[in-house]
Amino acid sequence: MAIIIDGKAVSAAIKQRVAQQAAALQKQNIQPGLAVILVGDDPASQIYVNNKKKACEVCGIRSFSYSLPAQTTQDELLELIGALNQNPDVNGILVQLPVPRHIQPDAVINAIDPLKDVDAFHPVNVGKIMQGTASLLPCTPAGVIELIDSAGIDPAGKDCVVIGRSNIVGKPMAMLMMHRNATVTICHSKTQNLTAKCRQADILISSVGKPHFVTADMIKPGAVVIDVGINRQKDGKLCGDVEFEAVAPIAGAITPVPGGVGPMTIAMLMQNTVTAAKLQNHIAI
Ligand code: NAP
Repeated sequence: MAIIIDGKAVSAAIKQRVAQQAAALQKQNIQPGLAVILVGDDPASQIYVNNKKKACEVCGIRSFSYSLPAQTTQDELLELIGALNQNPDVNGILVQLPVPRHIQPDAVINAIDPLKDVDAFHPVNVGKIMQGTASLLPCTPAGVIELIDSAGIDPAGKDCVVIGRSNIVGKPMAMLMMHRNATVTICHSKTQNLTAKCRQADILISSVGKPHFVTADMIKPGAVVIDVGINRQKDGKLCGDVEFEAVAPIAGAITPVPGGVGPMTIAMLMQNTVTAAKLQNHIAI
């Protein structure tokens, strides 16, 4: 039976570490601040935003919350981002995605000062991720790296398969694993012989967004299986991409859903906010 990698415990430890860093900054009269902007009233986004506020409280980060009506124009949103870019109390700016259809997500991402871009979606930060010189790392992939580290697994020299190539998960995930010296294969919807490719993986990371997608026949015995997927089932319960019950007896280590990668994303957002505060105040990270 695989080791179950406990994302709740690892994320709690990271939030504690962040709280210590924030307390140290406070001694220098710096309180890290995170601004979260929500446009519209999508209930799932409201839950995410509230969870971020709660995490800020736990970590000693000041949170600034902006709930804008769905009909807010792109110019109005960009104006707010411009003001937050100039506000020294705000170290991190996050616009909860998706934004309403009349707003271009790229225009929003590009408007955020790269030093305050705690999602690490700005092209400057994406370029740095590619170069391996980034200080602000994309939260979900960075959380996966923390989970792998927490389990004492060294990716160096291992074959890693990442399923999914989105800008927010798959692509940066593959980059981070390559920087940790894994040999990385990126798979997507046009990949042929996916099962055979996955069976080669010492570390398999699934970010597809389809329940029961990763089945036992895709797993190399002893492999580390990281499930990034979050899918809502008909009964309302959450599940990942991986058929956990069938895969866990074959894998060496596995993340559950819920309680695996999910809690890591917010913890890494908190870490990025404190890192951003240090960068903006020329303090070593
Ligand atoms: P996305 O943008 O929809 O990307 C899904 C990827 O899966 C695409 O690259 C797609 O390939 C690939 N794919 C789809 N069907 C496939 C198939 N049959 N075979 C192989 N690849 C296939 O989704 P995302 O934003 O990356 O998110 C992925 C999942 O992670 C979702 O469940 C999301 O909810 C979850 N997520 C979790 C967290 C967290 O905090 N844990 C954070 C972000 C996302 P193509 O590129 O060819 O279309």
